[in-house]
Amino acid sequence: MTLDKHWMPFTANKNFKAAPRMIQSAEGMYWTCDQGQSILDMTAGLWCTNLGHSRTQVAEAIFRSAQTLDYAPSFNFGHSDSFVLAERLAHLCPGDLNRAFFTTSGSEAVDTALKIAMSYQVARGKAGKKMIISRELAYHGVNLGGTAVGGIPVNTRNYSRWASVDLLPHTLDIERNAFSRGLPEFGIERAEVLQQLVELHGAENIAAVIVEPISGAGGVIIPPEGYLQRLREICDEHDILLIFDEVVCAFGRVGSFTAAQEFNVTPDMMTMAKGLTSGTVPMGAVMVDDKIYNTIVDASEGIEFFHGYTYSAHPLACAAALACLDIYEKENLFTRAQNGVGKYLEQVLHRLKDLPGIIDIRNYGLLGAVQFEAQDNDIPMGSQVFAKAWENGLMIRGAGDSIIVSPPLILEESHIDEFSEKIWQSIKSI
Ligand code: PMP
Repeated sequence: MTLDKHWMPFTANKNFKAAPRMIQSAEGMYWTCDQGQSILDMTAGLWCTNLGHSRTQVAEAIFRSAQTLDYAPSFNFGHSDSFVLAERLAHLCPGDLNRAFFTTSGSEAVDTALKIAMSYQVARGKAGKKMIISRELAYHGVNLGGTAVGGIPVNTRNYSRWASVDLLPHTLDIERNAFSRGLPEFGIERAEVLQQLVELHGAENIAAVIVEPISGAGGVIIPPEGYLQRLREICDEHDILLIFDEVVCAFGRVGSFTAAQEFNVTPDMMTMAKGLTSGTVPMGAVMVDDKIYNTIVDASEGIEFFHGYTYSAHPLACAAALACLDIYEKENLFTRAQNGVGKYLEQVLHRLKDLPGIIDIRNYGLLGAVQFEAQDNDIPMGSQVFAKAWENGLMIRGAGDSIIVSPPLILEESHIDEFSEKIWQSIKSI
């Protein structure tokens, strides 16, 4: 086998090919590599395998679907699983987020939500409301819409913003909040910037605000107290939609079904993916409230929304998602991130403060980041710690000067102890 032909995403291809990390199988909290090494998965893959790896019940559901209904188009045709899944999601979601539009990834969910926002404004006679406000350090996937509203400079720098977008400042303030636990302060003050952007651009030109309730790839930035509530109020005052990108947060990552419920703020739309099928079959969804759905549907007699994917509501993905929901509910996993295991991870993460070079530790539920002092080194600390941890049998994520953890929700205290031992060893050896 040659490693030459697969152009790997978000990868330093030349480096990878010189020293490949090849995964062979996975079970529960562990990966097994081609040389037989066992690796503790503290990232749930790419924040997605919330149920742990290779769950039999999910595998069987996918297999059953592949044998009985391998594919069904979702334009003008239905199959029962997609309707059952939409109903279960609507039941779990806050407020009247009652309609599910299915996609095959988080990026597609974001682009779909942006198009729904614009279609909604057109349907109600406010076609001028086109602009989107997002946030510095935001990650909303890699499609053109998500890139246009993205706030991480390396991800956006080669692409002119094709849509009209302005960015709220991010809310990370290490000087004032270093090593804080729970929600940092100063939320209302930071959200007030939205008011200024609305005055600058004019509410009549703004369709929506999109934010991750907790910025994930930007470095696990926890919303300061009152921040999301104030965004909600300003959006309401100015007739602007609020979209939460919950691709990372939904499905129990923060201790409730969604971050919206955890922080008690209901958006007008919500994107989700990842935990929806626990990473098994690609799937995303946009949850849309009654007002948006009814406005768009009532405005037309024919097809109301010219949008959809060949693999929207794919039968295998729906079967996987339904099996996953059964497990989440049976094992009470949506709230697990806020019970003992989440608190224990918090303690263990904050103990790292005693190591030199660490300037901040942030966590919420089963999501955490450790930030190192920036160094004059071609290889950022996040990548150095990531590489060393891998050698020590631990998968974490490197993101610039930070490392990130987002383990499967099934982890036990013994896994956190193993993580603690391996991460200390890895950081100390650097
Ligand atoms: N939104 C957020 C908040 C994400 O973290 C991600 C993926 N990490 C995406 C969107 C894109 O999801 P996908 O990679 O499934 O396209």
